[in-house]
Amino acid sequence: MRRFHPWVFSGAIHHIEGQPAEGDVVRVVTSEGAFLAWGHVQIGSIAVRVLTFREDEAIDAAFWRHRLRVAYDVRRSIGLAGSDHTNSYRLVHGEGDDLPGLIIDVYGSTAVVQAHSVGMHVSRFDIADALAEVLDGVIDNIYYKSETTLPYKAGIRDGDGYLRGGAADDIALENGLRFHVDWMGGQKTGFFVDQRDNRALLETYARWRRVLNMFCYTGGFSFYAMRGGAAIVHSVDSSARAIDITRSNVALNFPDDPRHTAFAEDAFKFLDTMPGADDPDGYDLIILDPPAFAKHRDALHNALQGYRRLNAKAFQKIRPGGILFTFSCSQAVNKDQFRTAVFTAAAQSARSVRILHQLHQPADHPINIYHPEGEYLKGLVLYVE
Ligand code: SAH
Repeated sequence: MRRFHPWVFSGAIHHIEGQPAEGDVVRVVTSEGAFLAWGHVQIGSIAVRVLTFREDEAIDAAFWRHRLRVAYDVRRSIGLAGSDHTNSYRLVHGEGDDLPGLIIDVYGSTAVVQAHSVGMHVSRFDIADALAEVLDGVIDNIYYKSETTLPYKAGIRDGDGYLRGGAADDIALENGLRFHVDWMGGQKTGFFVDQRDNRALLETYARWRRVLNMFCYTGGFSFYAMRGGAAIVHSVDSSARAIDITRSNVALNFPDDPRHTAFAEDAFKFLDTMPGADDPDGYDLIILDPPAFAKHRDALHNALQGYRRLNAKAFQKIRPGGILFTFSCSQAVNKDQFRTAVFTAAAQSARSVRILHQLHQPADHPINIYHPEGEYLKGLVLYVE
């Protein structure tokens, strides 16, 4: 904590004075009684999430306003907030914005607020007040969505709904492409804004290629590939709802374009039965962006096996001269471990493979320098001979 890491693990606590309720702001002190931090307390292995290391900083309306204003200034510096070709971005990235447990994504005139800690849930109305003030004139709606991200035992999974406004236009813009965001029913906050830069890179590789977008969710990589001039684009996801939204998103940008087909199918099954490397109907640009295989450290071994198996199928089937965009969004899997899993998969295929790009999360998902755990998205772009 003296190096500003924002978590206190339960095992590090000698005793708790008073009877704080989950989500209360507590004062953290050393065994000598010296002040360390103020933070949200919660039952679980991360017992306190630090809000401030300054003793004289109260957690009040001015605090929320200040933190959100800084977060917004950062997004303006990046060139995202206020851009006329992108209006979807992450405004608050938890620890990366000194607000552990809080995620806020902006989609046009709607902000989606997601609490990952009881403290942020308890503070949701204060956060909404500050958000409405800081983004005055930018957003009209604030949707709160935390049913699946709060600890089950806290018994508070019932707060989802609009905190401001309501029924909004659900179409957002990313690099000039339009898409529907299903913040009420979709995964996470409704769209994966973290792949924005990587999608833009993919667009530059798409010309004339036969593209397979595996784990497409709402089709982000697909409509970029279409704009990049792909010969065909096949989008695959096991969720039928995601496939429906993918179809409507492609149609929104490229109505009646025969190049796109979407399949609601399991990834491994699809990879097993799709055309191989020697088949002219095979793919020469493949995207693999699976869900987090390891949500926790103890699942690490299985996760690495999962990445190896998945990538091995792609190396086996991709056409000669093919480009593979492969990702991991598991926080528990680091860059080197992921690269090793992909390396092992490549070696199994015995093909010549070059690393063209090493990818990561974009600037609106900043990493707090004192909290390396905040680095989660990694990817490789590979040329497969
Ligand atoms: N690439 C997407 C985000 C992917 S999220 C984007 O740019 O927006 C991961 C997706 O994998 C989810 O949509 C989920 O439904 C899908 N998924 C999970 N398991 C799957 C499986 N076994 N086969 C196919 N899709 C799967």
